[in-house]
Amino acid sequence: MKKNFAVLLFTICLSGYLHGQAKYVFLFIGDGMGFTQVNTTEMYLAELEGRIGVSPLTFTQFPVASFATTYSTSNGVTDSGAAGTALATGSKTKNGAIGVDSLNAPLISIAERAKQKGMKVGIATNVRINHATPASFYAHRASRNMGYEILLDLLVSDFDFFAGSGISDPERWYDKTPADNIFPKIDSVGYAIVYGYESFLANQDKKEKVMLINKGDKSNNSIPYAIDRTNGDLTLAHITDCAIRTLETNNENGFFLMVESGQLDWAGHANDGATVIHEVIDLNEAVKRAYDFYLEHPDETLILVTADHETGGAVLGTGSSTLNLAVLQHQKVSKGTLSSYISNMRTNSDRPVTWEEVKDLLAANLGLWTNVPVSESQEKKLVERYRKSFIEGDQTKEESLYQSDEKLASEAIALLNSIARLGWISGSHSANYVPVFAIGAGADLFKGKMDNTDIPRFIMEAMNE
Ligand SMILES: [Zn+2]
Repeated sequence: MKKNFAVLLFTICLSGYLHGQAKYVFLFIGDGMGFTQVNTTEMYLAELEGRIGVSPLTFTQFPVASFATTYSTSNGVTDSGAAGTALATGSKTKNGAIGVDSLNAPLISIAERAKQKGMKVGIATNVRINHATPASFYAHRASRNMGYEILLDLLVSDFDFFAGSGISDPERWYDKTPADNIFPKIDSVGYAIVYGYESFLANQDKKEKVMLINKGDKSNNSIPYAIDRTNGDLTLAHITDCAIRTLETNNENGFFLMVESGQLDWAGHANDGATVIHEVIDLNEAVKRAYDFYLEHPDETLILVTADHETGGAVLGTGSSTLNLAVLQHQKVSKGTLSSYISNMRTNSDRPVTWEEVKDLLAANLGLWTNVPVSESQEKKLVERYRKSFIEGDQTKEESLYQSDEKLASEAIALLNSIARLGWISGSHSANYVPVFAIGAGADLFKGKMDNTDIPRFIMEAMNE
């Protein structure tokens, strides 16, 4: 009898142990990172090693790998507002909403609950701090476009760490009337505003609360894409590192940290495969920082990696059985940067730009002709676009959600993607399942098919709430 009781007690303790308690929670959100974006990156890396297969990312090797549905209350295909709100609060809402339900009633987020519990909280992204996904964790507004109003919610969040490229609408209400500049207000509620990694390291002991912004203009829409990055630009790994340092300090109660790759979604909207791959790798580098932390605190740390939705309807294999993903290694800049090179060529030349000059630019930045064979018919299409643009003066742009690109840049990138056999079905989001990867305290809760609203509920369970 005594022995049975001991076994029972042991079992109860063990199940409690297996279920958590997650004292340190990392939630990584690859915005627009569907299964194909992950799989493409792994198969691309294997091709670079000269083989067919996968070269696994850190997070795909986590012991729990599952998937989730993402629809919103208003649409089968969600936006980042409704999906962010679902991941933050465990409740579905209409597209465009931030931290409120379909009737605009506020919903409490897991970040806010963690704060109430005495944990520290960090919210980070590589796009604007008041963009839809990060905002869903601290703001309660009917529209994702209420940039200034969202920042007013940030001021009263009492969260410990924010990071991003900058913020939008720092002195303009939603109705476009002028408002008091938000930066002095952020300062007055106790945040040290620092620009870039070096400046963070130099100032990290000055204040307990930090807002980390990329170098340069604080109204930056996004940190440059990983593929375009120059020295001194923040990486998602830097951001995660700064977040951990801030949240660990003077902290007995643990923390909740959300890190978003918003750029991944933007590259998906632009159907820019190589740029997406570099963003997934950038996210993986950030996850590695969290994984190192997990190795130091394996019984108390939970890491989740998921997406809010898929972007672009990406598919691997477009008719042939042969993939050529390795050709994407020859792309040196994002579509947006290539587009600006082409625009500059037109404006900076005092004589007509020749096809040979354009061809050289495409060869240098995409490897077309030099490393990637181009057929006669493929070249003919590019020449036609060059003629329309440079000879006939048709300068209409290709508009995607976050970019306005030279059509010649779009066509050249589309050609490289089609040679790679990476297909894109649209410039918008899809309702495809998204992947969910988990490791650590409470990871077993995430086994099996989920809805996106289950994810924060299980996180709360893992935190023993
Ligand atoms: Zn999007």
